[in-house]
Amino acid sequence: MWWWRFGNDKNSLWVKVIRGKYNLDRRSWLPYTHGSGSISNVWKDICSVGNLDSALGFSIREGFKVQVNSGQDTLFWEHSWLGTTTLREEFPRLYQRSNQLDMVLSDICGGRGSADWNLQFRGTLRVRENQQYEELKQRLIGVTLEPSKQDSLQWIWTADKVFSVKSVYRQWESFAQSQNTLLGSVWRNLSPPKVEIFSWLAVQDKVATRSVLLQRNVISESQLAMCPLCALIVETPQHLLLHCRFAWAVWSGIVDWWNLQWACPSSVVELAPWWFGNRFRNLEKHIWEVCFLAILWSIWLTRNDYIFNGATTQASKVVDLVKTRVATWMKAKFDIKVYTVEDFKGYLNGIRKVKV
Ligand SMILES: [Zn+2]
Repeated sequence: MWWWRFGNDKNSLWVKVIRGKYNLDRRSWLPYTHGSGSISNVWKDICSVGNLDSALGFSIREGFKVQVNSGQDTLFWEHSWLGTTTLREEFPRLYQRSNQLDMVLSDICGGRGSADWNLQFRGTLRVRENQQYEELKQRLIGVTLEPSKQDSLQWIWTADKVFSVKSVYRQWESFAQSQNTLLGSVWRNLSPPKVEIFSWLAVQDKVATRSVLLQRNVISESQLAMCPLCALIVETPQHLLLHCRFAWAVWSGIVDWWNLQWACPSSVVELAPWWFGNRFRNLEKHIWEVCFLAILWSIWLTRNDYIFNGATTQASKVVDLVKTRVATWMKAKFDIKVYTVEDFKGYLNGIRKVKV
């Protein structure tokens, strides 16, 4: 497929020709247009595939990550190489202050390993910017460059990280089919889109936890891959979102809130059928189902808050946050003005039966 070949045949003639013709950055990994001048329809089509606001566009856009080795071809801010998106998107304030917008990793890191990041900003950073800077430094711990190997483009939807058209279709299909199946339970339009996307990845075991970053060589040492919430076990998606004693306490807190009994499932994927198979009706059904998303999302935010801000909390507080999120989303969706967020948390049984 063209996106893959564009990134991995960087030195081939056709890529050079296209770059020259459309004046593209030599370091771009993925096709794009400047949106001006005369552009052939073929190239326009190729570029537009990943910009589609659809399942296909999403699976393509999110599928490509840069595998960093020497760092010579990877733009620090603009390329997606650490975590799920670009650092520009993740740290917008710092990006605006940066003096190094156009720099590649090897320019900033000095090639001497993780301790040597030389990030520069214009002016003095404000309090909030400094916090972001600390978060960013945390993220960079453990990143090391390998000067002898070239950076390359990776495709995350296959086990061997090599792009295949089949895998795009598989991914696309699973998006499309999932609208009607269990996987699709997350697409209810009841919570913010980012929460749905995160949950959708979670029920497929595709969350970028530390174990995944370790596999992708984004972090280099296994002790850095431990679960941040318990520090006992390597942070795999299943562990973080379900089996960690912290996560488990959050799930149990919500199940107790509903006075239900349950047994520990082996994975989020197995938990979903039980969760969405509970036969509630009306408002009750919506509340119950959105709890599933709110729990996953809240655990993820707690984890990030700890990693990036050093903030610790208790499971009971997160349970309360889950309830608040659910109440807020439901009130936004169903216009149930009579009940406050506090009502929701306190008198769930009374509210559950309301018809919507
Ligand atoms: Zn844990």
